[in-house]
Order: sequence, then C-alpha cells, then structure tokens
Amino acid sequence: MAFADKQISCRDCGTVFVFTAGEQEFYANKGLMNEPTRCPSCRTARRSSQSSLEQADGYVRYGNFASFGGKTPRQMHPASCAECGQMTEVPFVPRGERPVYCSTCYSKLKPPREEVARQ
Ligand SMILES: [Zn+2]
Ligand SMILES: [Zn+2]
Repeated sequence: MAFADKQISCRDCGTVFVFTAGEQEFYANKGLMNEPTRCPSCRTARRSSQSSLEQADGYVRYGNFASFGGKTPRQMHPASCAECGQMTEVPFVPRGERPVYCSTCYSKLKPPREEVARQ
C-alpha cells in the first residue's frame, strides 16, 4: 500500500497541515486507523493541557486554597471588606451574617491585645 502526503485541516484551529506519507506509514504500522484531526501544535497544546488537568486533580490546587503556617490547606472564599470594600479572602463562606473585613481593617477594628491581657 502506497502512502502519499495528505493535507488535513485542523479541527481546532483550521490550520491545514500535512499528514506525510512517512507519518501515515508510522500510523499504519502501529495499527492506528484514525487520521490525526489536529495540527501538531494543537496536539501539543491538548497534551499539555491534559497533563495540567491531571496535576490539578492532585493534592495542591493553588488559588482556591491557602495554607496557614504549613498546616492543612483551607478553602478560601472571596469576599469584599465591609469597611473599605477591598476584595479579600476569608476561610469561611461569607453569608452576610457577619461582616467580612480585610486583614488591614480587621487588625484596625479588633481591640488591641495588650488591653485584654492587662486585666
Ligand atoms: Zn490546530
Ligand atoms: Zn478593609
């Protein structure tokens, strides 16, 4: 069976790429009947995005979790500070039952530790 270079347009980006005779032979030798449907760069992109998805299913997922002093990561929820309106992250689900403060306002609003300790 003779192979001839074949032009295929990528199903992802539409780029026309060449499925060479050599590649076709390689595919045939591996028993692969399906022609590639994506250009080499989309194939590479898919492969790397799949591997990063696998990593995301692992233990650490940056962005949703923040770790406190190397302890168990806790899920953080975005919330806006009731005092200054800045976006911040809190380790509980903000339901509006209690005001959420950013770390700056929180340390400003909470009573100074020294006064409590002095009693
Ligand atoms: Zn492509
Ligand atoms: Zn604030």
